[in-house]
Amino acid sequence: LVAFDKLKGLLLPDKPVLFPGQQPLNILLGLAALALGGLVISDPSALTSYGLLVIVGSILGILLTIPIGGADMPVAIALLNSYSGLAAASTGFVLSNDILIITGSLVGASGLILTRIMCKAMNRSLMNVLLGAIGEESASAPGADEVYAGKVKSASAEEVAMLLDGARRVVVVPGYGMAVAQAQHQVRDLANLLEGNGTEVEYAIHPVAGRMPGHMNVLLAEADVDYDKLREMDSINPSFEQTDVSLIIGANDIVNPVARTDPSSPIAGMPILDVDKSRTVVVIKRSLSPGFAGIPNPLFAADNTLMLFADGKQAILDLIAAVKEN
Ligand code: NDP
Repeated sequence: LVAFDKLKGLLLPDKPVLFPGQQPLNILLGLAALALGGLVISDPSALTSYGLLVIVGSILGILLTIPIGGADMPVAIALLNSYSGLAAASTGFVLSNDILIITGSLVGASGLILTRIMCKAMNRSLMNVLLGAIGEESASAPGADEVYAGKVKSASAEEVAMLLDGARRVVVVPGYGMAVAQAQHQVRDLANLLEGNGTEVEYAIHPVAGRMPGHMNVLLAEADVDYDKLREMDSINPSFEQTDVSLIIGANDIVNPVARTDPSSPIAGMPILDVDKSRTVVVIKRSLSPGFAGIPNPLFAADNTLMLFADGKQAILDLIAAVKEN
């Protein structure tokens, strides 16, 4: 519930919620839960111990999740998935139910493997995640005005279509905005059109693009994009220098160069797609609003970047029409 609320931004702030003595309190609650668990096992009819165990467990669950903020939430979600599997497997042992044990173990193990992959993708150690207090915002981060003032160049669909016409290699970088705009089918159509003109088109998939692991893979598979054209971050990053146009559709944090340059940033150390190394970067989004991590992106103000301000789906439809006209 806490992770859901933080992603939705309904009641709890997106930022980490921290207070003095949080870790000792968590350890104390963990020990109390173990002791109460022992009491419940020794006397299963003791309803008070059971009730207390539920209360302590719930408080511990909340306290372990609130310190996780902003860009680190995917790790927490994968870990919570894994916990749910472990809970199911334990229930299986109690009820002597083999199916619960097997499915619980599978969910628990796959959740842990996913957590490990996510930790690597976001440059966090698992211990760091378990102890919480990750993703703390930096107070010294530059404001949006400072980053963007007078430096952002916007382009029309026609101008971008001309760029795409002359490009030999185009890399499509989908992000959360493509999911919001549900533009995956139009993106595939544009890619097919460009390929028909002899352009090489590939898709760069960041492990935490979107709002769930594998989000972009699912959307592009739904649009029948050939799986071979989806390239993972490590494999496509070296090729950006030979890329004429990186076409970014609704992505922000996963292409923010601040992750490489500002150690105090909330996304510091998170590996990113090196789109800034390509000859031209075209960013399709509706405004200069920040992404999930809530920080400005200097890529939008870079010399080789053009902004195409529009809804993702509409922008791609306009691009298709303009490319067809050329
Ligand atoms: P971001 O959240 O960084 O940015 C998404 C961008 O999409 C916004 O800046 C927004 O700009 C734009 N957008 C929104 N709607 C539209 C639309 N209709 N048309 C065009 N653009 C749109 O997304 P990324 O994919 O780059 O990064 C993912 C972030 O989410 C990371 O910080 C990651 O840590 C986090 N996260 C990832 C999870 C995962 O497992 N994948 C889970 C939870 C969080 P504008 O409003 O100007 O249009």
